[in-house]
Amino acid sequence: FNTAAQVDELITPPVEIRYTKHLINGQFVEAASGKTFPTYDPRTGEVIAHVSEGDEEDINRAVSAARKAFDEGPWPKMTAYERSRILLQIADLVEKHSDELAALETWNNGKLYEQAAKIELPIFVRLLRYYAGWADKIHRLTVPADGNYHVQTLHEPIGVAGQIIPWNFPLLLFSWKVGPALACGNTLVVKTAEQTPLTGLFAAQLFHEAGLPPGVLNVVSGFGPVAGSALASHMDVDKIAFTGSTETGKIIYQLAAKSNLKPVTLELGGKSPFIVCEDADVDKAVELAHFAQFFNQGQCCCARSRTYVHERIYDEFLEKAKATALKRVVGDPFKKGVEKGPQIDSKQLEKILGHIRSGIECNATLECGGERIGKKGFFLQPTVFSNVQDDMLIAKDEIFGPVQTILKFKDTEEVIRRANKTRYGLAAGVFTKNLDTANTLMRGLRAGTVWINCFNVFDAAIPFGGYKMSGVGREKGIYSLHNYLQVKAVVTPLNDPAW
Ligand code: ADP
Repeated sequence: FNTAAQVDELITPPVEIRYTKHLINGQFVEAASGKTFPTYDPRTGEVIAHVSEGDEEDINRAVSAARKAFDEGPWPKMTAYERSRILLQIADLVEKHSDELAALETWNNGKLYEQAAKIELPIFVRLLRYYAGWADKIHRLTVPADGNYHVQTLHEPIGVAGQIIPWNFPLLLFSWKVGPALACGNTLVVKTAEQTPLTGLFAAQLFHEAGLPPGVLNVVSGFGPVAGSALASHMDVDKIAFTGSTETGKIIYQLAAKSNLKPVTLELGGKSPFIVCEDADVDKAVELAHFAQFFNQGQCCCARSRTYVHERIYDEFLEKAKATALKRVVGDPFKKGVEKGPQIDSKQLEKILGHIRSGIECNATLECGGERIGKKGFFLQPTVFSNVQDDMLIAKDEIFGPVQTILKFKDTEEVIRRANKTRYGLAAGVFTKNLDTANTLMRGLRAGTVWINCFNVFDAAIPFGGYKMSGVGREKGIYSLHNYLQVKAVVTPLNDPAW
């Protein structure tokens, strides 16, 4: 394994931790209970800060602030153009602080600094500009109803939106949630993930510095079953959006239903296929399949974690996939040239190692990897399994780690059937030069995104979300606006007899 940039001499993160308290009504405040919880550096497992620990009382305070900001304004009452301008100012300020935000993201999450700075922050900024562009382009309809009536629809913000985000893309998913919701004029309470509370607070502070009025965006740190569930079940929250595991998604749905039937958007887990057809350029397919699986340490809901390879190229693909995994440089995510950082925490590391054991026990072939690197931090070898069968747990359960499972197939109809035989349906990758094969696969695969001969294209305008148990609703693009608007039909009689 290439652990050249070893994990012992670590780079000191080029950023300070300035914000650790809840951000409620434009002010940083301690938790009502006074409690804090530690947050860690995944490179070492050491505590880097103590963060205010939110409970029901903190959520109540944040929801009250958001309610007041919604009911009294100015945010929902501003012209859409004014909202758009503030969002553009926010995008500029976030862009200016991109390097610091990226460094803090790497420090708290373990993802590659280059990836945070060059891919994720630009996506954040672009997405804000995209939705700033939408804010003043949300048109209503005039409806041609029967009878003597003038009928129109108003598209109004829903109100106070609760948004719960996970730890794998703390900033990126923060932007996917708050961008469209703010553009539509809602006010928000965001609950960040307990593993990665730091960057959401920093970003939210920049939103205020750029001109967002107090109370519009409130950020509470804390644990899911306490702060998260208080938000999902709050009677004064009008909408809840969640990204995380399918198991927790089900809980959120229930809490929303049991409380006030607030509408729910869920972006959940996946077990996405990557299908390499017989006509593929094997070297390119290996590279794409590799990144589609190992990007972000494999901690992606849309990781293409079942690599289906046509039997005619299977042996060559396998050999090259293994060589690619062995070459991947594991080490300090701040270092240039490092390609894989640590997993987020010991719980995830243990979970992934458990999946690897299960793969070995059911006689999949461990081609490479499978072990922890060093004793400090949560580093794991890039792992490749071959001889994987559809009914093995490693081919069914979401592993959420750097584990590629390679399966063999014979023909297109067969691979569609097998790829669809999962409770998930988030994404799929297809690699072929044949247009007919691409079309057949694209139509046959039951997934919210199909990337053909490419992977992980996350443009702000492209909708993202899941079929089946991978989610409810779509985020990004025009589709996210529907999540944060409701429709009011307005009917006025027309007294002109000519009508
Ligand atoms: P993971 O297991 O990968 O941490 P989760 O889906 O549990 O993923 O977490 C995603 C987000 O959901 C986090 O912000 C977490 O705090 C929150 N969460 C976890 N459990 C609950 C719950 N019971 N109610 C509300 N939010 C929750």
